[in-house]
Amino acid sequence: MKVLVVGGGVAGICLSHELLKQGCEVRLLDNNRNASSAVAAGLINPLVFRRMTLSWRISELLPFAYQTYREIEQLTGTSFLHPLVIRRLFASQQELEFWQKKQLLPEFEPYMEQLTDADLTFPIEQNTFGTGRVKQAAYIDTTPFLEGNRTYFASKEILLEETFDHAFLDPQTGVYKGEAYDFILFAEGKDGKYNPLFSHLPLQQTKGELLTIQSDTIYGEESLNRKCFLLPLGNGRFKVGSTYVWDTDNTEPTEEGAQTIAENLRSITSESYEILEHRAGVRPTVPDRRPLIGKHPEFSKMVFANGLGTKGYMIAPLIAHELVNHLLHGDPLNPECDMVRFEKE
Ligand SMILES: Cc1cc2nc3c(=O)[nH]c(=O)nc-3n(C[C@H](O)[C@H](O)[C@H](O)COP(=O)(O)OP(=O)(O)OC[C@H]3O[C@@H](n4cnc5c(N)ncnc54)[C@H](O)[C@@H]3O)c2cc1C
Repeated sequence: MKVLVVGGGVAGICLSHELLKQGCEVRLLDNNRNASSAVAAGLINPLVFRRMTLSWRISELLPFAYQTYREIEQLTGTSFLHPLVIRRLFASQQELEFWQKKQLLPEFEPYMEQLTDADLTFPIEQNTFGTGRVKQAAYIDTTPFLEGNRTYFASKEILLEETFDHAFLDPQTGVYKGEAYDFILFAEGKDGKYNPLFSHLPLQQTKGELLTIQSDTIYGEESLNRKCFLLPLGNGRFKVGSTYVWDTDNTEPTEEGAQTIAENLRSITSESYEILEHRAGVRPTVPDRRPLIGKHPEFSKMVFANGLGTKGYMIAPLIAHELVNHLLHGDPLNPECDMVRFEKE
């Protein structure tokens, strides 16, 4: 099978590896224009703190993601997957009680440490209600991940740095610029909204901003979380974020975004810091917060692989695996991800 993947963010990278693993001939096209994957903090957190629930399909997604990233590290000769302790600073007595209750439930046990006295009295200035530690969290260091893969695919002569142009496509036959493909997979992130073949889908664009800061006095051994996350990168550097602005594809960082992050960070620490970098990206989101994947209703060689939302790094490996198994072996898609859910009358 010969497959063209359009888009070299985490979605396109995971798809390309999965296709290669299953013996396909792959070409990866990327215009390196917007990569939400490059701006992301790369956090992998099994819990959703806002509602103190488990992340969607966590027991399937998490082991698959870890296994896939370890394999990609080996293949590319880069190191980017780092285990991490995420510590939630409770914002209220109610949140503490929620944790106390949930930590006893069998489905939460693999992801929540039982609260200890040390957690409750964690020595940080703004600890009024105690703290709780997440198990099995990690982060992907996005720069070596993206650069390592770019170098790897370039060395295999798979990667082409250019923009896909629909003027050269026959969607019926799968011929693009004179080459016939069995499938063309569009993993274009937020730009999937402008893909003329899939304009009927409700892909949304959700902007987010993130700061990289330097401070020698902020606690730097775990990722702290309240209103925002503080991710230690080592040597006094941290990523802090992020913001949410709906319905915009503008990727410029703003003063307002930086202020919001600084304000949220004050709920964790009042230590001083220097801003090293300020970036913005646009997440490809979906109204029901599930991926958006599947074959075009009329042109079966045209495939959408998008909608990774706010947790693309955790979701991409398994979703890529399921989509490739669907295309190569006819396995059914998970109905929550299948874009057909938006095509019904
Ligand atoms: C501020 C912020 C923080 C985030 N933090 C996290 C986090 O901590 N953990 C997490 O899991 N997720 C996080 N995310 C979400 C994550 O970034 C996304 O879920 C994920 O990166 C989406 O990946 P993608 O490959 O679908 O899109 P992208 O990363 O945007 O990649 C799409 C690629 O396709 C290319 N492209 C588009 N159209 C074309 C075309 N026509 N021709 C050729 N190339 C094309 C683009 O240039 C780009 O390289 C964050 C996002 C933001 C903005």
